[in-house]
Amino acid sequence: MRTFEVHDAAVPEVRQRDEGLRLEGVTVRYGSTTALSGIDLSAPSGEVLAVLGPSGGGKSTLLRTVAGLEGSSRGSVRFGGQDLSGVPVHRRGFGMVFQDGQLFGHRDVAGNVEFGLRMRSVGRRERRREVARLLELVGLAGYQRRKVGELSGGQAQRVALARALAARPRLLLLDEPLSGLDRMLRERLAVDLAELLSDSATTAVVVTHDLDEAFTLADRVAVLSEGRVLQEERPRRLWTRPADEEVAGFLGCTTFLRGRIEDGIASCPLGSVPCPGEHAGEVLLGLRATGVRAHRSGTERNRGARGEVVRRSHRHDHVRLTVAVPELAGVDRLEAVVADTEVPEPGEEVALEIDPAGTALLGR
Ligand code: ADP
Ligand code: MG
Repeated sequence: MRTFEVHDAAVPEVRQRDEGLRLEGVTVRYGSTTALSGIDLSAPSGEVLAVLGPSGGGKSTLLRTVAGLEGSSRGSVRFGGQDLSGVPVHRRGFGMVFQDGQLFGHRDVAGNVEFGLRMRSVGRRERRREVARLLELVGLAGYQRRKVGELSGGQAQRVALARALAARPRLLLLDEPLSGLDRMLRERLAVDLAELLSDSATTAVVVTHDLDEAFTLADRVAVLSEGRVLQEERPRRLWTRPADEEVAGFLGCTTFLRGRIEDGIASCPLGSVPCPGEHAGEVLLGLRATGVRAHRSGTERNRGARGEVVRRSHRHDHVRLTVAVPELAGVDRLEAVVADTEVPEPGEEVALEIDPAGTALLGR
């Protein structure tokens, strides 16, 4: 039976528009492989949802399912309250940007960006104005006549983005949009993209394996692994309160230590971490390399736990140590950082202290 909405139902319509994207129980199988398993996720209108996870976890499958490119899926995908099953790709009003290779090589920059405008039957003069506006938005003002083959990777990605935005998508789907770029460019473009999405109040889903990309862009982050959502949270909360060791491991925690919370302070053998408002009791602390600072013994800061340097490696802005910690129950070795002004030799003893900024509390 069909039911029809009452047309002047203004309030429900506003509510529906605000609803954004909602996935419920989405499952996708390829033969015997379950790429997605019972995914519940949402991206409220105007927000950016980042889906973060290892390669093969199901990220691209998720985006293709939302776009309508995935033939067989179970569960429901809704946008603005509307069920999208049976709505073909080109009628969903979604824009997509992939990792690479998506520009039309035979058109120049303007021709690529214009594509979305032609689809909307925008007139010629208006098209020219809009192309200029979009190119300015992505930091490529004046690039209209440039050939696609003469663009750098970062410029090509910006053009792809402008082209997707030109179609005024209700939802922008980004599949590892920056991962083909070198580090400096990626960081800069991530910041630009975050600003652009927030300025244009675009609802977007970005899938990536890159922590920086996810955390720079997202209003919410979902961790996807082996086809399941392990946790969905605001970025800061996810970073400091991962649900379990698997999520924490994905967020860079390499060592786990038992501790206790009392009076808003979590203590473990390496030191303590303020956690105001957390209820008292046992806790598992997740330490990133940057969560443990090493100091040469014999300096004045040699309280706390000790260890012996096993290995050291120079990073671009610090030195990382692997430290054997025989005194610490349940842990053999841990990663620590040391200022490059006092790098100890392998075999040397170091004092260790916790840095709350690199520490997470699990299961809270
Ligand atoms: P991600 O984008 O996170 O790397 P994918 O969504 O591409 O992950 O893949 C998820 C899983 O589904 C993987 O095990 C992958 O091998 C499998 N898969 C993806 N696409 C296909 C396909 N067209 N046919 C068969 N298996 C696929
Ligand atoms: Mg992928």
